[in-house]
Amino acid sequence: MSTALISVSDKTGIVPFARSIAEAGITILSTGGTAQVLRNAHIAVQELEAVTGFPEILGGRVKTLHPKIFGGILQLRGNEEHERQKRAFGLPEIRFVVVNLYPFSKTIRKPDLSLEEAIEQIDIGGSALARGAAKNYRHVTVVVDPQDYEEVVRELARAGETSLALRQRLAVKAFGHVSAYDAIIAGYLQERFGVAELPSAWSLPLVNGQKLRYGENPHQQGILYGEFWCHFQQLHGKELSYNNLLDIDSGVGLLGDFPDRPTVAILKHNTPCGIGSADALREAWEKALATDREAPFGGVVAVNRPVDLPFAETLSAIFTEVVVAPAFDSEALTLLQRKKNLRLLTADFSQIPRNRFSFRSVLGDSILAQDPDSAPLSGEKRQVASRRSPTEEEWGAMEFAWRVCKHVRSNAIVFGTTDRTLGIGAGQMSRVDAVRVAIAKASHAGLSLKGSAVASDAYFPFPDSILCAADAGATAVIQPGGSIRDPEVIAAADERGLALVFTGRRHFRH
Ligand code: 5GP
Repeated sequence: MSTALISVSDKTGIVPFARSIAEAGITILSTGGTAQVLRNAHIAVQELEAVTGFPEILGGRVKTLHPKIFGGILQLRGNEEHERQKRAFGLPEIRFVVVNLYPFSKTIRKPDLSLEEAIEQIDIGGSALARGAAKNYRHVTVVVDPQDYEEVVRELARAGETSLALRQRLAVKAFGHVSAYDAIIAGYLQERFGVAELPSAWSLPLVNGQKLRYGENPHQQGILYGEFWCHFQQLHGKELSYNNLLDIDSGVGLLGDFPDRPTVAILKHNTPCGIGSADALREAWEKALATDREAPFGGVVAVNRPVDLPFAETLSAIFTEVVVAPAFDSEALTLLQRKKNLRLLTADFSQIPRNRFSFRSVLGDSILAQDPDSAPLSGEKRQVASRRSPTEEEWGAMEFAWRVCKHVRSNAIVFGTTDRTLGIGAGQMSRVDAVRVAIAKASHAGLSLKGSAVASDAYFPFPDSILCAADAGATAVIQPGGSIRDPEVIAAADERGLALVFTGRRHFRH
C-alpha cells in the first residue's frame, strides 16, 4: 500500500490535493498541523506516531526525523537487501512526499524579531524530507510547491502513477527549494552574528525562479527570481512579461524621486517617454503624455497616487500594457478591467525595501554587482557655477528635470519645467546628440523650450551641448560638473546668460 507523507507549512491548496491522493487509494501520513487541517476537511489521515511509535518532541523541532520515515522514503524498489529490511523493520512505502518549509524568509521580515524566534523558524525535518525524496526520485514524487499539485493529480488520474520525467523535474525543484532556503538562513545569521563569511549576495534567493512566458524576445527564456511578488499584486490582465517587469522597475524607481505631488510616468523600453506632476493624476497624465504622444503606445504607466475614475477614463484613450499604482478606486478598477490586454498592478511603494544590489551579466556567465543608484538626491550639492543665479522658477524646473534625468539611459538629457518634461534625449553615444534628440522630440511634439531648464546625467565635456540648449531656448542648466573643460562650459553659460548649477554627483545609467 503506498503512502503519501504530507507536512506543509503553506497549506494553500492542500485539501483538494490530499483528497485526490486519498481517492487514488494512497494512505496519507501527516504531521500535527497538517493532519488537523486535513481531518477538518474529513480526509482520513494517519498520524506519524502510529507508524513511528514516537510523538513529535521538543516543541516540534523533531517531528518526522525517524528511521522508519526516512527508511520509508529512501528504500529502493527491487533491491533485495532494502526489501528484506523493509519487512524486518516494518517500513512504510512512502511514494509521495509533499512538504514545504517554514516560511523563514517571510518571518525575518518582521520587525523586532528576536534571534530565538528566527531560529525556531529554521526547518530541519522538512529539508531532510525534501532532500530524501528528491534523492530517491526514481520511486518517490516530491512536491514542494502548491503550483505542482495539479500536474501530479493529472498524471495520477491518467496513469495511476507519476511519470519519471515529472519526478525528475520535481526533484530538481526540491533541491532548489532547500538550497535557496539554506542560503537565506546563512545570509540572515551572517547579519545577526556580524560575521562576513559569505559574500552578501549569497542570501539572494536565486533558485525557484518564476518562469516567464519568454525573455526579452520570444526565442529567449526568461525567469524572475527574488521577492517581487511579496511587494506587488496583480489585479487584472495577462501574465507580466520580462519587458513589462523592466519597465515597472524603472517607473516605480523613478516615482521614488517624486514623492510630494501626484505624478505620472510613462515608460517604454525601460526609459521614460514623459513625466508630469499636478494636483490630480489626470492633469499629470496630460503633461506626461504631451512630451511624446507617439512613444507611449503599448507602454507602462506608473503613478504614485490611487487611480481614480477621471484618470482611468483618460488613460483608456490610448493602448497601455501596464498600469502600476498604489491602489485603484473601485470605479476606476471596474472601468480598466474591461480591457483584456491591460495589466493592473498595485504595490505600497513606500514599503518596498531598497534593493541591496543592482546586477548585470557579462561574458563568461559572470555577474556584475553594484550598489543601486538610490542614495537620496537631497544628499547632493547644488552649487551655482554661473554668474547669474537661477530664479525660483528655474530652480524648480532644474530640480524636476534632474530627478527625471537620473532615470534616463545615458547619455541622458532632459528638458523640463517645474512640473513636466518637455523633451527627453536618451541612450545616445554623444552628449550633444542627446541634446539634439531632446530638442527634436520637443519640437516634434509642438512644445517650446523657451525658458526651460535642461538636465544632463553627466558633465558636459565640451561647451557645444550648452550652446545647443541655449539656442533652443533653455535658460537654466543642471549637471554634475567635474570636466577639465568646466571653465569653458561656464564661460559659454555666462556668455548666453544661462544659470548653471553643479550637483557634484553623476547618474550614469548604462
Ligand atoms: P505541521 O503544520 O504539519 O505541524 O508542520 C508542517 C511543517 O513541519 C512543514 O513546514 C515541515 O517542513 C516541518 N517539519 C516536518 N518534519 C519536521 C521535523 O522533523 N523537524 C522540524 N523542525 N520541522 C519539520
